[in-house]
Amino acid sequence: MDHLKDSYRHQGKRKILISELRQMGIQIPEILEAFYAVPRHFFMDLALDDLAYTNAAFQIGSGQTISHPYTVAYQTQLLEVKPKMKILEIGTGSGFQTSILCALGAKVYSIERHQELHVKAGAILKHLGYDARLRYGDGFLGWPSYAPFDRIIVTCGAPNIPSELKNQLAVGGIMIIPVGEGAEQKMLKIIRLSDGEFVDEAFGTFKFVPMLESKVSMNPPK
Ligand code: SAH
Repeated sequence: MDHLKDSYRHQGKRKILISELRQMGIQIPEILEAFYAVPRHFFMDLALDDLAYTNAAFQIGSGQTISHPYTVAYQTQLLEVKPKMKILEIGTGSGFQTSILCALGAKVYSIERHQELHVKAGAILKHLGYDARLRYGDGFLGWPSYAPFDRIIVTCGAPNIPSELKNQLAVGGIMIIPVGEGAEQKMLKIIRLSDGEFVDEAFGTFKFVPMLESKVSMNPPK
């Protein structure tokens, strides 16, 4: 794995990206530090190495994309992560967002519906020394055996708010989920106030790849 080398050139580019993110409103020092700690180019093709620290989304295989750095930072900021929190992520994709959450000290559980991406992300996370639990399965079903989660982050565009994910959110917990049927989604922050009470607040408009149900009932959740 030749591209898993982090040079001074990469580190310098990361510093520039971080100052851009700061100017765009990402203010939490721990998040900016996490963007320095996680080399984004590890999660992309070697051919895209030079572009890894530009604020753009790129193909990662299986027709999926690694999200814009700003989108990852923005969702992470809304998530209000604290060390040791149990976080469920839907859409492991490249594993970049997963790594940012690990760098913030969270205990991360992440689900991906494409096996190829699930396997590749696992290898990079291991290389970085992050021990997130990854699962190949359908994010609509969540991961009941580890519920409740302090935080849930959905990194694909959901057609609605999946009821299983609401059930698996701890009381007092926060879910960040982009919701919308078309090409664009509204970023929603959902807070569970009590067993049956949820409030939500809408933030900006974003473009995510769609959250799709799995073709096969692989690996049913425990
Ligand atoms: N967090 C990722 C973003 C990848 S794009 C990153 O940092 O790279 C969103 C991912 O969600 C894609 O990999 C897609 O395959 C996945 N996805 C879509 N629907 C899903 C579902 N129902 N369950 C799990 N993953 C899903």
